[in-house]
Amino acid sequence: MELPPALGAPPILELIDVHAAYGRIEVLRGVDLLVPRGAVMALLGANGAGKTTLLRVISALMPMTAGDIHLGGVHVSNATPDELTRAGLTMVPEGRGVFPNLTVEENLWLASYSGRPVDKILTDAYGRFPRLKERRRQLAGSLSGGEQQMLSLARALSSDPALLLLDELSMGLAPLIVESLYDTVAEIAESGVSIVVVEQFASSALRVSDYAAVMHGGRIVETGEPGEISEKLSELYFGGAA
Ligand code: ATP
Repeated sequence: MELPPALGAPPILELIDVHAAYGRIEVLRGVDLLVPRGAVMALLGANGAGKTTLLRVISALMPMTAGDIHLGGVHVSNATPDELTRAGLTMVPEGRGVFPNLTVEENLWLASYSGRPVDKILTDAYGRFPRLKERRRQLAGSLSGGEQQMLSLARALSSDPALLLLDELSMGLAPLIVESLYDTVAEIAESGVSIVVVEQFASSALRVSDYAAVMHGGRIVETGEPGEISEKLSELYFGGAA
């Protein structure tokens, strides 16, 4: 009998009763979340639900006020962002993590600080995104929005992450571009990377997700397979009885 490879492995990410605040205003109010290894998890919710804050807390860019975080079964609540990167966590922030005044290739060179050889980073990036190779001498700031998002994904992948956090990949992009970026997300997941993808609008993210979690008022209010959570989503977005 062939067993699924992830059977028995600890989840790639587990959050237990995570709280965080801006000053005295608590915006994460007891978040519990479990992301199985190898899964794509869509984290959905309306504007202001706390999704970006949660990604910042997971990445240690913002402190928790209470709670616990485990990455691959290891307690990392007190880890620094650098330690988390070395442990395999990478985030692509909202608004694209690229240097606009550097060329595409210079942006990729800078990603080699993670310790991987530049040649390997370039080969992987251009293999996955041939468009970036065509544009390699162009300033990143002059790329289209979709191409900039490809570059930020390529930079994120250069550190060979085990868990990738993606914040609003679709922001400001045309629907066809968003669809093709999500095809890439699915390919990245097939290569064994676990992914948490935050989106305000659900459909493209859900298409490539194994699980979805809905955030509202600083808590996860629903989790399930994509088909199971659509009712809860329409309640929250369109003001049904919540
Ligand atoms: P969005 O899609 O708008 O990014 P979100 O679900 O990611 O929404 P957050 O950005 O995490 O939500 O914001 C959660 C709450 O925290 C909101 O009420 C927001 O106004 C507040 N907030 C966010 N950033 C700050 C900040 N730097 N200082 C104070 N309050 C903040």
